[in-house]
Amino acid sequence: MDVSPCPLDTEFADQIALLLAPPSPESAQEYYDDIIRIRQCYGINIKQGKFGKGVYANADFKAGELVLKDQMLVASQHSSNKIDCLVCSYCFCYIGSVELQIGRKLYLQGLRLSAKKDCDIETMCDGSEEECPTERMGRGTSNNHDYVEPCASTSMKDKAVSEEILASLMNGSLVLPYSENFSLPPVVSCPGGCEEEHYCSILCAEADWEAFHSLLCTGGKSDSSRREALVKFIEHANRTNDIFILAAKVISSTILRYKKLKMAHFGKEVQSSVLNWTDVFFSLLLEAWKPISMGFKKRWWDCVALPNDVDCSNEVSFRMQIRDLAYTSLQLLKDAIFDKECATLFSLDIYGHIIGMFELNNLDLVVASPVEDYFIYIDDLPSPLKIEAEKLTRPFLVALGDDYSVYCQGTAFFPLQSCINHSCHPNAKAFKRDEDKDGHATIIALRSIMEGEEITISYIDEDLPYEERQSLLADYGFKCECPRCLEENS
Ligand SMILES: [Zn+2]
Ligand SMILES: [Zn+2]
Ligand SMILES: [Zn+2]
Repeated sequence: MDVSPCPLDTEFADQIALLLAPPSPESAQEYYDDIIRIRQCYGINIKQGKFGKGVYANADFKAGELVLKDQMLVASQHSSNKIDCLVCSYCFCYIGSVELQIGRKLYLQGLRLSAKKDCDIETMCDGSEEECPTERMGRGTSNNHDYVEPCASTSMKDKAVSEEILASLMNGSLVLPYSENFSLPPVVSCPGGCEEEHYCSILCAEADWEAFHSLLCTGGKSDSSRREALVKFIEHANRTNDIFILAAKVISSTILRYKKLKMAHFGKEVQSSVLNWTDVFFSLLLEAWKPISMGFKKRWWDCVALPNDVDCSNEVSFRMQIRDLAYTSLQLLKDAIFDKECATLFSLDIYGHIIGMFELNNLDLVVASPVEDYFIYIDDLPSPLKIEAEKLTRPFLVALGDDYSVYCQGTAFFPLQSCINHSCHPNAKAFKRDEDKDGHATIIALRSIMEGEEITISYIDEDLPYEERQSLLADYGFKCECPRCLEENS
């Protein structure tokens, strides 16, 4: 691979190396002990084991019991999923009402469908139907960020619900039967005035503003040049790979933490003996970066799995294109939120490692849909009540089609869950119970676990045969040597 196109990679090479150095075992232990205390996950602890750090049971667990609940360090809903589900941008619980969720989704789907029609006509006119190859490669290489095409059947028109009815669902004048059993918190707007983010409470709105969003808001309260640059960055990410939005959240949260630390530092008495301010600033930046430093990372373009449709002989050029795509995105982000004191964070090397961290940890954000629960509830009603209710609900279910059950999906980084090692015969799994209404990760025991035992989950479908498991796990950068693999390979 040729020399990096980013001048900051050379200028800040020393600082980059310090940011990317794995944390010392002591500082990692201190960090995780703190998180366990804050989350009150007293059933587990993090220890160094045979394969680096791992999560160990601190108590006995019965099958089905909750092992831990982990809050995300940073998370975002997939761009394509934003049409389907309206969720709090901080805790990712559903908001508004079942009526608003249904009305909004059908309304936005209608808009997308008519936009697609216009776009098809345009494409036919200028005859250029080929997609830009770089954009195609960037998209979908990480997890499932692919845009789901709505099935454009000819009967779509027959299924459509009129715009007036959709409006009355969205404004609350049309109430669906039994929806009171699925009540959701009212929608709170972004304090910066953008239309992109919504919250379940003022608490979530303020927490998001403080931790991430104040640097990334495109609302009227941000200055206009930043706003324009941000819009360009977001549009590029939506068009190519929405993992960039997550990377931007990591950078903005690190800058905001840095600023807080700096305030606290200079709030105290300034020591006149300090000679080198750059060192002081950088030590604060290292501290602000600490939560991110805990995640295992490699450069995105080095660790991303080669898609099946890319020939091995094109691997080098494929990886270069991924790097260039990241560089384009980084320049757009830099135009929007560059901060001189945190310049190192805007180097391509750091940007690539942040994205690689999400690639390698592959932690899905999943929240079950109250809309699906609602229609199941209606379907389960005793016959006379069901017939009566369906007079109103049926047209919406038909219009939604199979999409009625689409749930909130995104990518997140969960600090504790990311420490759980893989096993092809795991004793726990990530599983959302009925009461888990937000984006937090919940890990449930699959069988009884004894105190002192390591907690394991499967990163892949563990029912696959040995060779296929190993090949999927290679994408995570390791060869599985769990007892089952050792046995099957002997
Ligand atoms: Zn919330
Ligand atoms: Zn905003
Ligand atoms: Zn295995």
